[in-house]
Amino acid sequence: MNKKVTPEPLFNDEYASGPAAKRVLGYIQSRREQGASVAGLYCAYAPMELIFAMDIVPAGLCSFSDIPIEAAEEHLPANLCPLIKSSYGFVISGTCPFYGLSDVVIAETTCDGKKKMFEMMSHIKPLYIMDLPQVPNEKEARDEWKVMILKLKSFMETHTGKTTTDEKIENCIQESNRKNSLMMKIFEYGAVHPPVINWNEINDIISITMPSSGDEILHLLEDIIEKLETRVETGFHYGNINSPRVMVTGCPVGGDALKIYRIIEDLGGVVVALDACSGMKTFMDPIDENTGDPIGAIAERYLRIPCSCMTPNERRLTNTDAIIEKYRPDVVIDFVLHACHTYNVESYKVGEHVKNRHNLPFLKIVTDYSDGDIEQIKTRVQALFESIER
Ligand code: SF4
Ligand code: SF4
Repeated sequence: MNKKVTPEPLFNDEYASGPAAKRVLGYIQSRREQGASVAGLYCAYAPMELIFAMDIVPAGLCSFSDIPIEAAEEHLPANLCPLIKSSYGFVISGTCPFYGLSDVVIAETTCDGKKKMFEMMSHIKPLYIMDLPQVPNEKEARDEWKVMILKLKSFMETHTGKTTTDEKIENCIQESNRKNSLMMKIFEYGAVHPPVINWNEINDIISITMPSSGDEILHLLEDIIEKLETRVETGFHYGNINSPRVMVTGCPVGGDALKIYRIIEDLGGVVVALDACSGMKTFMDPIDENTGDPIGAIAERYLRIPCSCMTPNERRLTNTDAIIEKYRPDVVIDFVLHACHTYNVESYKVGEHVKNRHNLPFLKIVTDYSDGDIEQIKTRVQALFESIER
């Protein structure tokens, strides 16, 4: 049976008050007051270690709210990914405090919609579009991406007055590896059966971790691991031994798109593995240390991120195998945003792989940020859970 006890919060008092977005905003504001610059980011390909090494704080600008979409549709087609419309709508309506704090904006040529949206906002703040190689296994790709990272460095130097050294970048690589390995340990509490961490807590931890650097965040993550260990020892868990264990893959999830996690939970399931850029994808793979070429090492590692904008994207299947083996989901749900052609097309390949190699049920959900399809999604997820009833 699910134990109906309230677990000890995973954050200490300093971090425990208010929603994660407010806490993150407060953190970025205070770093700015201390002299740091701020870079707004839209993608996992933005090289965080370089940003941190330049005393710049990253602020995530990808938006997951339905509210600014109406404003965005005055310029953008309605049949466009809601993440792009929402992100753009916040910028043109001047309602995104993270964008407001940003000194520079970093963008990448990932999907076509985002790329063209960046063009439309490039006059508002200094914005650099990195040309992302999309055939990552080509031998030139790593060097081309390294050149883009070096160009980004010059752009940030020009617009923020900040600079850095190879030594500082190397230190940030090593710190990032430590942070990411602690994050992976935290995710692994979802592999416990039943899990001792839920999607909401994971989401909060990721939000707070993303802009943070230095010993303070490492201590915070270690403290969270201790608390999770206590949960294991005291027998606290989410759901119960029969709750359907769900891996969610696909497009990034946040804000109004969190409906997918809520539906799974409302129907008695537990989200045990969040595989997307909003989940474990960006934490899984360490950067090579002490190579003597820290920017080259960053370029190599970031090109391994298995986004569907890459072709071929075999690493997504390899990652899926590793996640399934560790987290032992009963089902895999592919979360695809409307008009996201790359994830939508790739869904067939991922689905066949999950069904044939792992013998697991696979469900693709195509949706947006509105709540109009909640009942329909519930019906489909319910049917999925019934198909595995033990
Ligand atoms: S899904 Fe792809 S394009 Fe979107 S944030 Fe992740 S890496 Fe970037
Ligand atoms: S979800 Fe898909 S369409 Fe939307 S921004 Fe990401 S890659 Fe582009």
